Parts: sequence; structure tokens; C-alpha cells
Amino acid sequence: MQDFTFHTPVAVGDAAKLLGSCEDPKLIAGGMTLLPTLKQRLAEPTDLVDLGAIPDIKGICRDGDDIVIGAMTCHADVAASTLLLETIPGLAGLAGQIGDPAVRHRGTIGGSIANADPAADYPAAVLGFGATVVTNQRKIAGEDFFVGLFETALEPGEIITTVRFPIPVWSNYQKLRNPASGYAVVGVLVVQTKDGVRVAVTGAGGSAFRVSEMEEALSKDFSAKSLEGIKVDADGLNADMHASAAYRAHVIGVLAKRAVLSRA
Ligand SMILES: Cc1cc2nc3c(=O)[nH]c(=O)nc-3n(C[C@H](O)[C@H](O)[C@H](O)COP(=O)(O)OP(=O)(O)OC[C@H]3O[C@@H](n4cnc5c(N)ncnc54)[C@H](O)[C@@H]3O)c2cc1C
Repeated sequence: MQDFTFHTPVAVGDAAKLLGSCEDPKLIAGGMTLLPTLKQRLAEPTDLVDLGAIPDIKGICRDGDDIVIGAMTCHADVAASTLLLETIPGLAGLAGQIGDPAVRHRGTIGGSIANADPAADYPAAVLGFGATVVTNQRKIAGEDFFVGLFETALEPGEIITTVRFPIPVWSNYQKLRNPASGYAVVGVLVVQTKDGVRVAVTGAGGSAFRVSEMEEALSKDFSAKSLEGIKVDADGLNADMHASAAYRAHVIGVLAKRAVLSRA
């Protein structure tokens, strides 16, 4: 690991100033992805700007019909949040399936979505719930946030402050875990809103995506039967040592049905 200067600003504005004034700075949240990257010298920033001492970008609250989660909120707090268990239990359930307890206590929602790992769980939530990513500069619709493999719409110097999730009618997340890391080989989130059903998939493509055919079928008839006959095209899906593209395509259908069947 290269030497770097470590900064601990206590306000987002101060963090933004550091990003603008340091030679080659990098934000650090829980360090779950960044620290291994530094150790392998895949990144060699001159300065690390720690977000951990900024109080107002951590925590979960309700604002009208939205649940607002601070970027520095760890996965364990999302999973255990009483407010979320009452309003969006499907999101708490998704966070509770991330990695293992150590990962869930260090990893943050802001770090996870900024990193945009194609096998991460939160991208399905950002897309499936129709969330809005709020930064120190603007609001980014969930649909526009993930632009490719490990790529987001964030500009250099932009800091995620909160993620806003509209409270849906119902939701459920099902996941086929990589048994070693816990990352999603495939993850499927089904969300019922007052305007229809949304189905978001992670793990299977370069970035999370929605399955419009399933959404249309479930919006007309919310039953596992209505998904029968819908085949997800394997073309362009991820293929690696864990699963072929055809297997992932098949598993999307299986997990979507499981999610629907979980509705009592
Ligand atoms: C063993 C292991 C298993 C895992 N299993 C899973 C899993 O099953 N599912 C899953 O979804 N994830 C999994 N993860 C990922 C983990 O949950 C973290 O969310 C992820 O590693 C990001 O970590 P972090 O929040 O500590 O961010 P960091 O590692 O600190 O930062 C990651 C990147 O985001 C940037 N960043 C951080 N915060 C912000 C912000 N507020 N604004 C803008 N940019 C920011 C940083 O500059 C850096 O580039 C796993 C990780 C490990 C190590």
C-alpha cells in the first residue's frame, strides 16, 4: 500500500473541499472494497477522505412517503431498522442477506452503490424501488444511476449523501448467494407499488436491470402462474466460473416466482 494522507472531515462541505483541493483523493466509507484495492495497489490515492465522522449522512428516517437512508448507514443497521421493518421490510431483508456479519457492520449503502459491483444487492433495490440517489450536488433517479460494470453517473468530486426509497405496497428479495462471498450470483427483487409491479435483477448482467415482461404480467395478475412461459434472454448475461448465462437466465425466473409466492 502506498503512503497517503488521511482526512476526517465532519461536514459534507469540508469533504467536498478536500476532494477539490487534494492531488488524487479518494473517499472512504467502511473500506470494505477500497482497502483491499489499496493493498493490491489497484488504486494509489494521495489522500483518503473518510466519511465516517460526518454525523448527518448516517441513519434512517421517514420523510413523507419516502424512507431516507444516510450514505454512511451500514447494512446491519438497515437490516435491523424498526422503521424499515414496518415500512419496507423487503429492503431490510435485502440488506440482511449481504455478505456476513463483519461485512454488514462495516459496509455502507453509499459505498455499495458508488462501487456498483454487478453482483451487489443494493443495485436491485435502487432500481426496483425506484429510489433517488441524493448527492452533495444533485438528485439522480435510480434508473439513471448505474451506467455499466462498476460505473455510475457520479461525477468526480460528487458525494452520495442519502438514498430515498418510496414506500411501496409490498416487496420481497430473493437471492442465489455465492457460497464463498455471499454476493449475488443472481438476485431478484419484486416490488408492488400503487402504479404496478417492478422486477429488478442483480448479479446476472453488467449492471442491475428490470424485466419488463414480468412486470407487465404481474401487474395484470400477481401470481407465480402469470410468470410461467416468460423466458429471460441469456444473451449478454454474465457467464463465469459460478454460473453460465443460460443458468442465470433460468434462475431469474425461479427467484421471481419464489418472491411472488412469499406473499402470504
Ligand atoms: C467478503 C465480502 C463479502 C461481500 N458480500 C457482499 C454481498 O453479499 N452483497 C453485497 O451487496 N455486497 C457485498 N460486499 C460488499 C460490501 O457490502 C460493501 O458494501 C462494499 O464493499 C462497499 O464497501 P464500503 O461501504 O465500505 O465502501 P468503501 O470500500 O469505503 O468504498 C467503496 C467505493 O465507494 C466510494 N464511496 C464510498 N462512499 C461514498 C459516498 N458516500 N459517495 C461517493 N462515493 C463513495 C469510495 O471512494 C470507493 O470507491 C462484500 C464485501 C466483502 C469484502
